[in-house]
Amino acid sequence: MKWIALFLFILASCKERNDDSLANEISEGKWIDLTYDFSSQTLYWPTAATFRMDTAFEGTTAGGFYYSAYNFCAAEHGGTHLDAPVHFAKGKWAADEIPLDKLTGEAVVIDVVDKAMKNADYLISTDDIQAWEKTNGNIPENSILLFRTGYGAYYPDAKKYLGTDERGADAVAKLHFPSIHPAAAAWIVKNRKVKAVGIDVASVDYGQSKDFKTHQILYGENIPGFENVANLDKLPAKGAYVIALPMKIKGGSGGPLRIIAWVKH
Ligand SMILES: [Zn+2]
Repeated sequence: MKWIALFLFILASCKERNDDSLANEISEGKWIDLTYDFSSQTLYWPTAATFRMDTAFEGTTAGGFYYSAYNFCAAEHGGTHLDAPVHFAKGKWAADEIPLDKLTGEAVVIDVVDKAMKNADYLISTDDIQAWEKTNGNIPENSILLFRTGYGAYYPDAKKYLGTDERGADAVAKLHFPSIHPAAAAWIVKNRKVKAVGIDVASVDYGQSKDFKTHQILYGENIPGFENVANLDKLPAKGAYVIALPMKIKGGSGGPLRIIAWVKH
């Protein structure tokens, strides 16, 4: 009897350990891909090089087995991507220098879809943030702050998503998409502690920005940006866990980003 009791005790304690495991916890949720694929459709700033993929080899080799390999080339800033703080702030973190802790954490999603979908030049205000906090409580310390404008629904239709499908320097003045008001960015860095800021448009400044002030304010505080984030409609207002892993380009000002979120069932 004693041995049976001991066996049951060990079994119970093993089970307990298992239940507490991270793997077990994760199995009680699902992963959501917040990343657009990279292809010839990927949207880039009108002046930036687009994604190119050339076939190095594709087919059956002389040895009789299938083999494929490609060369790719693109600007850092396009598609779902990271803005490293050094993109707009000299001496701040480059793509390879951002601590992993800043790229992972609990996310809050501030939804401004109603206003932004009616106005392509909409600037997300401090009021929008405070209205969210009124319902959800203050943005928790060390959150990854995500803004949802709804423009992700247009991706990759450049005309709707960016305001123009023209390319080149003259197209920049024709960009129209919403983003974060510099005053809201200033309020965030002064009053809240966030790890990173992401949004479902091409830039943390709106399309008509000339001075990219929101970039300067956030990145000046070493807060990285995530742009062209996909599928934000699939995240709750709070409680998702985000993992954002950019290509580790040494000294890079940004780069392609694989960003995913875990959401409890
Ligand atoms: Zn960028």
